[in-house]
Amino acid sequence: MMHEAEFLIVGAGIVGLTLARELLEQGADKITIMEKEAGLGFHASGRNSGVLHAGIYYPSHTLKAQLCLKGNLLLQEYCMQKGLPLLKAGKVIVARNQNELPTLLHLHDQAKENGAKVELIDEIQLASIEPNAKTFQKALYSHYTAMVDNKAILHSLYQDLIQTQRVTFLFNAELKKMKNEFIAQSSQGEIRFKQFINTAGAYADKVAHLFNVGKEYYFIPFKGIYQKLKSEKSHLVNGNIYPVPNLENPFLGVHFTRNIHGDVYVGPTAIPAFGRENYGILQGIDRELVNIIKNEIILYCSNPLFRRVAHEEPKKYIAKYFYRDAKRLVKELQPNWLTRATKVGIRPQLINIRDKKLMMDFLVVQERHSVHVLNAISPAFTSSMAFAKYIVQMYIKS
Ligand SMILES: Cc1cc2nc3c(=O)[nH]c(=O)nc-3n(C[C@H](O)[C@H](O)[C@H](O)COP(=O)(O)OP(=O)(O)OC[C@H]3O[C@@H](n4cnc5c(N)ncnc54)[C@H](O)[C@@H]3O)c2cc1C
Repeated sequence: MMHEAEFLIVGAGIVGLTLARELLEQGADKITIMEKEAGLGFHASGRNSGVLHAGIYYPSHTLKAQLCLKGNLLLQEYCMQKGLPLLKAGKVIVARNQNELPTLLHLHDQAKENGAKVELIDEIQLASIEPNAKTFQKALYSHYTAMVDNKAILHSLYQDLIQTQRVTFLFNAELKKMKNEFIAQSSQGEIRFKQFINTAGAYADKVAHLFNVGKEYYFIPFKGIYQKLKSEKSHLVNGNIYPVPNLENPFLGVHFTRNIHGDVYVGPTAIPAFGRENYGILQGIDRELVNIIKNEIILYCSNPLFRRVAHEEPKKYIAKYFYRDAKRLVKELQPNWLTRATKVGIRPQLINIRDKKLMMDFLVVQERHSVHVLNAISPAFTSSMAFAKYIVQMYIKS
């Protein structure tokens, strides 16, 4: 028998789940969420740093600026309502030298413009917040940055959705192709729908291409590897210690984050990966490898920013370079205080084929009965609840 749905959502990551929640609030009656894995959190939403960002890094005209802080506050409220872990520890961004001070001041002004609660602090104030952090003259303190348990949030949203009895989850159901405009073929049979929502994360470009949408975009995967501070040293970090980033680069640089269990993670890296799910050395490498390498070579030759990332980031596979980046942020750190963490994430970065540029903002594309969330990169976890409201308001006709 064919499965029928008013809305078919492909991908049960944070973006798919929060969109389903928002659709229910707007009166949707029959939603199906199709997920190729056996459960929740197998990919980005279950493998991230668990940081609720606070609207600092994004130029004010961007969707990220518009949605990050709103999303942060909505998720904080959700965690408090549901009794989920929430650590409101804030974050400091530290300057490594004089050259980074103009960017630090720029971040301060931009964050204010975005409504974030930030302040420039001196080295004495920094020592009272993060005694082990070091900076050159000034640092930026963000009050609203917080840490959450990302998997607990996914499971809580799942329970909320199931309880309404208006949402059906199909696990182990991979979207294979479109039979026609209103029928999707999955590994578990056909699904007829009225509206289709693509929240397939690292595969969102491929799903969009099934609809002839977003043909000018493809993803390049970057691997995020973490190290962990030995537990007897975790008292050296209270919250988050981040470097001043290169604002042209989509990644924030290796940083320290104390998670809700008190463990301090250092990372992640952003190393070009060999597959969209290439979490281990060989795991997740498939036929696409040749294409990924070809696209990386094209980008390497045409985009100076990608070239810089490709030179700088792979070094962090080597413990010495990873340590060097981490040590710049703190007064005390020994190489043997860091151990390789099992957590690895893949950050899919959307590239525009035409101009070979890395897409820095969220991107949503609509085509008649389908909506495609094409670039749900960081801080999409933080922004998700606000992003869902935005997508429903702007793109979904009831
Ligand atoms: C290392 C790392 C650190 C990060 N840190 C942070 C952070 O601290 N704060 C923050 O806000 N953001 C962070 N992010 C970003 C954040 O995790 C992502 O932006 C967010 O999780 C994206 O959610 P999603 O639902 O789009 O994707 P996903 O969580 O990847 O979900 C997509 C789902 O679609 C499924 N799917 C794919 N193709 C198909 C198909 N054909 N059929 C059926 N199902 C399919 C996948 O199995 C997957 O479950 C980080 C990301 C990484 C990788």
